[in-house]
Amino acid sequence: MLTEFGIISRYFTGRQRHTQSLLGIGDDCALLAPASGHALAVSTDMLVAGRHFFADVDPAALGHKALAVNLSDLAAMGAAPRAFTLALALPEADPAWLQAFSDGLFGVANRFGCELIGGDTTAGPLNICITVFGDVTGAGALTRAGALVDDDVWVSGALGDARLALGALRGEWPLDAAALREARAALERPTPRVALGLALRGLASAALDISDGLAGDLRHIVEASKLDAMVDADALPCSPLLAGQAAALRRQCTMAGGDDYELCFTAPAAARAEVVAAGLRVGVPVTRIGKMTRPAPGESPAMRWRDGAGAPLDSDFTGFDHFHAD
Ligand code: ADP
Ligand code: MG
Repeated sequence: MLTEFGIISRYFTGRQRHTQSLLGIGDDCALLAPASGHALAVSTDMLVAGRHFFADVDPAALGHKALAVNLSDLAAMGAAPRAFTLALALPEADPAWLQAFSDGLFGVANRFGCELIGGDTTAGPLNICITVFGDVTGAGALTRAGALVDDDVWVSGALGDARLALGALRGEWPLDAAALREARAALERPTPRVALGLALRGLASAALDISDGLAGDLRHIVEASKLDAMVDADALPCSPLLAGQAAALRRQCTMAGGDDYELCFTAPAAARAEVVAAGLRVGVPVTRIGKMTRPAPGESPAMRWRDGAGAPLDSDFTGFDHFHAD
C-alpha cells in the first residue's frame, strides 16, 4: 500500500539535483533565492480530468503536458525556468500510473532545468496543479501591454494541430490513423518555447502564449495595449498535415484552436530581421501574421481579420472559455 509520503518519496523526491533551490522537498517550505537583479516570475496552471484532458490519457503524456503548459507561461514572459511545485489529487495510488506520470514530468523538468521543490498530495478526483517560478530581468519581462502602433504581430511554430487532434478524438471530424498520431503529439506533448521567449527579451514589445486559441489570446494584447490587431487569416502558419485539410477546417483550427502553446508577440517593424534571426538561433520558425493599428475614433480596440487578398473576414471567434463552452 502506497501512503502519501510513500508517493512523495518514491516518485517525486531525489530525482533531480538541487541546482535551483536553497532547500527543496521535505521541509515546511522550500527556499528559493531570485538571481540578483532579477524578479521572480510566478505562474499557476491547473489541469482537471474531463476538462483539460481525457481521464484515460497516457499518464506520461499528462506529466509532460502539466509542466509544459506552465513553462509556456514563463516563456511568454521572457523568464528562465527555475523551479516548480506540484499539487496532486489522485483517485488511487496506482504505481504504474505514478511511474509514467512522474517520468513524463521529470523528462520536461530536466530538459528545461526546472527543479521540483515541493507540493501537496491528496486523495480526490484527478487534478494536477503546478506553479512555476522563473527568473526575469525586470526591464526585460514581456508583458501584454507593450505593443505600439505599427508593430508587427508574430507567432512561433505552427498553429492548429492540437485542435485538429481534439476534434478527431471527439468525433467532430474524421482523421486517418497516421494523421491523428501526428496531430495528437501536438495536443499531448506541446513544446514550451522557452528559448524563444528568452531570445525575444529586448526585442518583442508584447507577448503571450497561445493556450485558448489565437483569436481569444491575441485579444488580451489588444485590450492591454489598447490597439487593434489586424491579422491575415491566410498567413497563419500550419503544419503540412493541416495544410492538406479543407480551408474551413484549417481556419477554424489555426484561428481559434486552443492548446497550441506557441508564442504570439509584437515587435517593431524595424526589428524584423532580428526577430527572424532570433527564431533561427533557437530553431523555432517565426511567422509575421499582421500588425497593430490605432482603433478608429470612438471604437474599442478589436481584432480585425483579413483574408490573404485583404478582404475583411467576418469572424467573432473568441477562443475557448471554460465557463461558456458547449
Ligand atoms: P505539509 O503537511 O506541511 O503540507 P506535506 O506533508 O503535505 O507537508 O508534504 C511534505 C513535503 O513534501 C513538503 O516539503 C511538500 O512540499 C512535499 N510534497 C508534497 N507533495 C508533493 C508532490 N506531489 N511533489 C513534490 N513535493 C511534494
Ligand atoms: Mg500538505
